[in-house]
Amino acid sequence: MLRLLSFIVLALATLGAHASDVRLAVIKTATLKVTENKLFVGGDASRELRNNFSAFLIRHGDTLMLSDTGLGSHVKEQYDQDMRWWQRPFFRYDEPVVPAQAQLAAAGVGPVTQSALSHAHWDHASGLDDFPGAQVWLPKEEMPMVEDARHGKRGAGSAWPSQVASPAIDWHLLAFDHPAYEGFEASHDQFGDGSVVFVPMFGHTPGSTGLFLTLGSGRRIFLVGDVVWSSGALKDGAPKIWAARQLVDHDADQTAEAIRKIRAVQARLPELLVVPAHDSVSQDALGYFPNWVR
Ligand SMILES: [Zn+2]
Repeated sequence: MLRLLSFIVLALATLGAHASDVRLAVIKTATLKVTENKLFVGGDASRELRNNFSAFLIRHGDTLMLSDTGLGSHVKEQYDQDMRWWQRPFFRYDEPVVPAQAQLAAAGVGPVTQSALSHAHWDHASGLDDFPGAQVWLPKEEMPMVEDARHGKRGAGSAWPSQVASPAIDWHLLAFDHPAYEGFEASHDQFGDGSVVFVPMFGHTPGSTGLFLTLGSGRRIFLVGDVVWSSGALKDGAPKIWAARQLVDHDADQTAEAIRKIRAVQARLPELLVVPAHDSVSQDALGYFPNWVR
């Protein structure tokens, strides 16, 4: 009897980790046609891919939280102001842009009260000003990039003044104050129930973060930002091509270490879906907003 009781208690506790209504919707705001060899070393020059610019909407009970914002309503003005001319051939997007805010408004979904960024690059932070009043969570390691932007630094490997300089942004420091998690040395459990857990994946930028989601069904998803640009690159651990590493990876060794950790957790948990921020293959499999993954 006691055994049965302790089993039930344990089962309930395990269930509690994902008992609340936790869902994910991938909001595709824009795309860019590229060939695979532009994304990673060893990529196929004849294989055309679509890069996504996505925001990831997490519904946790009554709270709506974005991980990355995709391209926002003012991306054209931001790009004209802050993308350096010589970087423009490498960093582009195809029209049309359908910002996350417009898609949410059309579906009557809102308000978004929290945003977290995998990192502060332009194609992830562009929609921040579409969600005034939302808390914006970023690790302290990423904040110097924001400060640099406030002092006028701009370009593909920086944050952009047009996106982050507004004094109206309600910044919150995301501290990795929880224990090691799935092979990463620390973590931050955003809602305290194990459903939304951030891990440090520094390298692509000084404060790049990954996000483990455990949805209401128990399904697990790992959002890895721009540590890699495609799930194809993860298969053999291939780094981004040389030019891209020079332009956008802050620390190549740290980025390689982050890729190694992602591959290790993927090998250990084959049911875990790893989703790079720009990867259309894994995102097509999840479907797009207004579809919810539960
Ligand atoms: Zn990106």
